[in-house]
Amino acid sequence: MALAHTLGFPRIGADRELKKALEAYWKGDIDQAALRQTGRELRACHWQLQAQAGIELLPVGDFAWYDQMLAHSAAFGVVPSRFAGALGADGRPTLDTLFAMARGAGACCGGAAGETRHALELTKWFDTNYHYLVPEFSADQRFVLSWEQLFEEVDEAIALGHKVKPVLIGPLTYLWLGKAKGAAFDKLDLLERLLPVYGEILSRLARQGVEWVQIDEPILGLDLPQDWKNAFERAYHILQYSPLKKLLATYFASLDDNLGLAAGLPVDGLHVDLVRAPEQLPAVLDRLPSYKVLSLGVVNGRNVWRCDLEAALEQLQQARARFGANLWVASSCSLLHSPVDVRREDRLDAELKSWLAFAVQKCEEIAVLAQALNTPDAPQVRQALAQSQAVQASRERSPRIHKPAVQARLAAVLPADCQRSSTFATRSEVQRAQLRLPAFPTTTIGSFPQTASIRLARQAYKAGKLSANDYTDAMHVEIRHAIQVQERLGLDVLVHGEAERNDMVEYFAEQLDGYLITRFGWVQSYGSRCVKPAVIYGDISRERAMTVDWITYAQRQTGKWVKGMLTGPVTLLMWSFAREDLPREVQARQLALAVRDEVQDLERAGIRIIQIDEAAFREGLPLRRAQWPAYLEWAVQAFRLCASGVADATQIHTHMCYSEFNDVIEAIAAMDADVITIETSRSDMELLQAFEAFEYPNDIGPGVYDIHSPRVPDTEQMLRLLTLAAARIPVERLWVNPDCGLKTRAWPETEAALVNMVAAARQARQRLA
Ligand code: GLN
Ligand code: ZN
Repeated sequence: MALAHTLGFPRIGADRELKKALEAYWKGDIDQAALRQTGRELRACHWQLQAQAGIELLPVGDFAWYDQMLAHSAAFGVVPSRFAGALGADGRPTLDTLFAMARGAGACCGGAAGETRHALELTKWFDTNYHYLVPEFSADQRFVLSWEQLFEEVDEAIALGHKVKPVLIGPLTYLWLGKAKGAAFDKLDLLERLLPVYGEILSRLARQGVEWVQIDEPILGLDLPQDWKNAFERAYHILQYSPLKKLLATYFASLDDNLGLAAGLPVDGLHVDLVRAPEQLPAVLDRLPSYKVLSLGVVNGRNVWRCDLEAALEQLQQARARFGANLWVASSCSLLHSPVDVRREDRLDAELKSWLAFAVQKCEEIAVLAQALNTPDAPQVRQALAQSQAVQASRERSPRIHKPAVQARLAAVLPADCQRSSTFATRSEVQRAQLRLPAFPTTTIGSFPQTASIRLARQAYKAGKLSANDYTDAMHVEIRHAIQVQERLGLDVLVHGEAERNDMVEYFAEQLDGYLITRFGWVQSYGSRCVKPAVIYGDISRERAMTVDWITYAQRQTGKWVKGMLTGPVTLLMWSFAREDLPREVQARQLALAVRDEVQDLERAGIRIIQIDEAAFREGLPLRRAQWPAYLEWAVQAFRLCASGVADATQIHTHMCYSEFNDVIEAIAAMDADVITIETSRSDMELLQAFEAFEYPNDIGPGVYDIHSPRVPDTEQMLRLLTLAAARIPVERLWVNPDCGLKTRAWPETEAALVNMVAAARQARQRLA
């Protein structure tokens, strides 16, 4: 019998219950017992939803209080020494230790008053928009089983009558994703010390009555150095003597040159992602011994479209011939990356809704596919297949999706449309003369605190309780306030603050044709932060200007320059659920044309500085290097297409979060933005390494303070970062700004930090300029 399972379920809750509980706990509004109770209820509910949908083997360990990597760090006792004071009385991490590691901590950790401990670094989980907390290893790292959560949850699920499959991040992936701190050493040297803890975990799970464990090793989808490949063999040969059947899970990419390795490891089953890499099926069928379990990820865990069940079934049947009862049907990856339940979408029209599947519906699809293998003639199988076919057919013909005018405009784009009329050298002189900014100009990334009053006004407006005029007035008050604060602080290039924007993608998606917005389609981004990606369902067109009124209003309030603020085409695409019926690069070009029109409208309205955020540019990189050039080519061209329709005097900024740009710095230069602001403070200007081999030609603002934490950085710290930057980058090309937007912060800490930042810039002017 083919078995239906998932690799993980969203933990945040259909109503973002986990987010709300976490934030209430951090504020002190609820106690830890209440927080834990919410977790228990969510887990019970999620297992129940999956079981009801027909999932037979339920994931445990996919729940985490902040992040699953953080939970593993706690489990292995990987707590950096700066949090030693936050450990429990028994020397082991507590829930509050985890939160201190995730969010940074003040004097709580036994340090001097006012002393602060910076949070673990946060970074993208492979090519998703989920962020994990990066484990920090020291050369003398010890691993000690230190956190009981997984075992408690297994008992919990078993007590509820479920058949469970605990999920662990595998030892190699865990080490790969961590960072070596202190004296240089090879992370692989830690493997021998780490494995006994895995052994201990497996033994304890076996004693709890578990049969199968899922061990995630997504790094098998990456280009691995030979010593890491060898380490896989070493590790799994050692782990094979631990009890439990092991399902090795890979996802997000093809196994490619690692297939032989993965298929040969002494484990009992292999999961492969057939959504991302359908082409690997024949090779997998060829290489994996048929006495092992083959789990095929045929239902996309990372998008919202209903599965083409016929097509999936065809793939499964190919495998069925060889694997028989050893074939499992699964989501491509954890459903963590999907929203929870499409049934709640009460404002979508029936046609659009009929095209969508969220996590619960995906479980049903997985189950019906398993059923189609086991009992092909069952009426519910036939009905589901017929329905799926009808959905595919209706999308293929729908005029809501296919728009000849958009396609014609795209076909008419010329190479010159992707090229500014002059070089940066010429443009920057024209801009210098016109903008008259000081050395080390200060600016922010766009958003200011999204206060309760802003959110209330927006909610009231959306609910029809506030008229459009009153809403506009309310936003104008916020804009005026933001402008006044910036003038008072002495910033040089101002922003309007983005009060009117719920989200940097959704705001535009709401105004672009071809996009749909869900009400409850939330997906966890990091910790308690969720995003609600908009959905691109059809060809994209812009009906009217989207930002011009707000920006020109802000500009009228001040004699200083106000930056227009847009989201770029690559980011719009990456942070949306994209179409699966059109190549991503074509969707990016459609979006670029819409943004280009907006850029030109802003310029016509007198705005001289326009920022086009490409926060997601790097995360679009394919996991395998061989595929990078093709991506970079179309992503850079999409940016250039949207940014090149302006005069020399108009200064184009772009902004990117995260600093791991060393490998793509040339592509970033090729985007040819006049100024780029970029995150660097959390990684201590690591970005600058990229400048050793390559001189970034245009202006750059390496972020001097971390906006992810409420901690206020002092002037000295920021000046130190600026000094580091000035050693590598000509001072006349340096800008001073935070790492990212400030919308998640509160005003007091924001003002305090910006006061210090402006002071740092002034000192830099004296000392460095
Ligand atoms: N302009 C946006 C803001 O400040 C950029 C956000 C981002 O890069 N994620 O909020
Ligand atoms: Zn950012």
